[in-house]
Amino acid sequence: MVNLTRQMIEIRSILLNVNGSNALRLPSIVVVGSQSSGKSSVLESIVGQEFLPKGSNMVTRRPIELTLVNDNSLAAETAEFPALKMFNMTDFSQVQKILFDLNMAVPYEEAVSNDPIQLTIRSPRVPDLSLVDLPGYIQVEAADQPVTLKNRIRELCERYLEEPNIILAISAADVDLANSSALRAAKRADPRGERTIGVITKMDLVSAEQAKKMLTNRKYPLKMGYVGCITKAPQTQSLFRRQSGTQAFIAQQNFERAFFKEHKSEFAGSTTGTKNLKKKLMRVLEKSMASCLKPMHLLVSNELEETSYKFKVEFNDRELTSEKYMAQTIDQLKIGIKEFSEKFGRPELKALLRSELDQKVLDLLALRYWNKPPTPQTSNKTATPELFEEPSLEDLQFAAPNDSYWNRKLELSTASLTKLGVGRLSTTLVTDAILTEIGVLVDNTELRTHPLIKDAIKEAATSVLNQRYNSTADQVENCIKPYKYEIDVEDREWANAKQHSALLLKEELKQCNEAFQDLKRTIGGNKLKQIMTFLENENNSIGENLARENLGFSPGLLAKGREAVFLQDRANLLQMRLKFLQSGQCKFKDNKYKCPEVFMDVVAEKLAQTAVLFLNVELLSDFYYSFPRELEAKLSNGLTKEQIENFAKEDPKIKRHIELQERKQLLELALSKIDDVMALRKRIA
Ligand code: GDP
Repeated sequence: MVNLTRQMIEIRSILLNVNGSNALRLPSIVVVGSQSSGKSSVLESIVGQEFLPKGSNMVTRRPIELTLVNDNSLAAETAEFPALKMFNMTDFSQVQKILFDLNMAVPYEEAVSNDPIQLTIRSPRVPDLSLVDLPGYIQVEAADQPVTLKNRIRELCERYLEEPNIILAISAADVDLANSSALRAAKRADPRGERTIGVITKMDLVSAEQAKKMLTNRKYPLKMGYVGCITKAPQTQSLFRRQSGTQAFIAQQNFERAFFKEHKSEFAGSTTGTKNLKKKLMRVLEKSMASCLKPMHLLVSNELEETSYKFKVEFNDRELTSEKYMAQTIDQLKIGIKEFSEKFGRPELKALLRSELDQKVLDLLALRYWNKPPTPQTSNKTATPELFEEPSLEDLQFAAPNDSYWNRKLELSTASLTKLGVGRLSTTLVTDAILTEIGVLVDNTELRTHPLIKDAIKEAATSVLNQRYNSTADQVENCIKPYKYEIDVEDREWANAKQHSALLLKEELKQCNEAFQDLKRTIGGNKLKQIMTFLENENNSIGENLARENLGFSPGLLAKGREAVFLQDRANLLQMRLKFLQSGQCKFKDNKYKCPEVFMDVVAEKLAQTAVLFLNVELLSDFYYSFPRELEAKLSNGLTKEQIENFAKEDPKIKRHIELQERKQLLELALSKIDDVMALRKRIA
């Protein structure tokens, strides 16, 4: 026999993954019953496991869509929550707890959520069924809740009670059926009683005569009839020892069987017992599924046709998966890295380092040569008395080439440059430049909107660079070591440095003048002049009461004025040095003590040249080789399937592309399965 329900359940679970395919749902058995009617006991005795959350305070706040799959390959029941990616669970107290937590996550004030919980239970003992346990709207009707909430609960439940679903209306035998809210609800949704099965529980609590009457309920006759059950055995031993789940179910089955055997004659012609209920449910569902086959085929075909059309028009039938998209993105990035490697090689590296060292040279020159010695009123005479005897820069022009003061000054300045940690400085400089450039590169691709991938790329780059950082810095430092002791200068080097240092000074002068002009513009030429004159007078009139004479200039203005005085002095000094550099005095390297700007330039050039040799081989070339590989490892292999999917779907267009394609594939799969089932049924019929 074709197990239609099993196959339809499979088709149903395929269609469940098709977004927005509510219309494609296949029939389920929807269980309704007021509190204490025995609803949970019925469901649990069908499954043979206690798994539903218990409690009086609205514990079912989301519909539970329960799929039962008969699986003879299993030794016992296993549960799965596909949406939570939890599979093969065998501890049903855990299942109960998860269901409880999922329900309780819906705030009490909202009462219910439309979002169903999907739970699949596989077992050799369950029939293939698809059931829905609804939030107890019936028990809520009487509860003290605002009307809007009651309406929401009712709307949700009524949607489930619609065709083609089958209604399983549970009522307890010890309550008058006229008061059964389950039957009332069923009657509203199915007035002709065509797709409702009545279940009367607790048959043991009333007389057989009374029970029999209920099973032939004439007030609400059902085409599919009523089934009488006993879903809980009296717990005779419970005072001493609690029965385990399985023991309790065995006891219930035995008790129920014995009960109906005993009352066989009274219940003749009626359907009784949980076992028969299961059989009935299977039969009814199978029949209902069969009648859905044709309409379902039509629905799925239409849906597929529409989806295929959209896929063709929007994406030209081009296949795309998250993995493929990721691979394309990595390729794009690799091209970017290649282009970057062509743009950023040894010459660029040298220029970068040289400009950093030029700045260091200028700083050192300023510190050791250009800055004015502190004026007497601000300096501490006892701490640095020699400052007062320090020759000025004007004196340098007339100093003898072997003057010991200027000799020492140059030695100290050079040492400051060679010992500033060129290894680390240059390695950090290159590392930072590469990281910045990779950032720019990424921002120029689709990846800019993917924080996760951006981080992974940055991590890959940092990890490659970090692996090399220390050894590169040490090697560079080692190679420049000789310059810490002696620096030989060739004539050609001196001539080049002379030219280069003049350019540097000119640039410095230019910047100085520009900064001065900026101040002039913001403060106004006349005012600035006034402040500067005031500050000069202030310097010349030590000891007088200056506060009285500050002519109302604010402290901010005075600070700006001091800056202007400094800039003017610095510009004069730079002009003087430039003139000196361009005079014959700095033509030859023998005069190096008189021309510290040129000599320091020579040193900077030597340091840069040597450092670049190693940086290029040890860091840059290695990076260009290793980074694409690291990237591949981090992005292709280092991310989970889910992360890759999330990445791809972060881009709305890609998301739509992949989802439309998935939808098409799922519909194709579902349709081919429906076709198979129909063909098989035709052959058998
Ligand atoms: P629900 O609130 O509708 O889910 O009802 P439960 O399944 O929790 O059952 C309510 C109470 O009725 C529990 O105490 C059960 O033990 C008891 N009960 C359920 N079915 C039967 C039955 O067939 N016979 C008897 N005597 N008690 C039952």
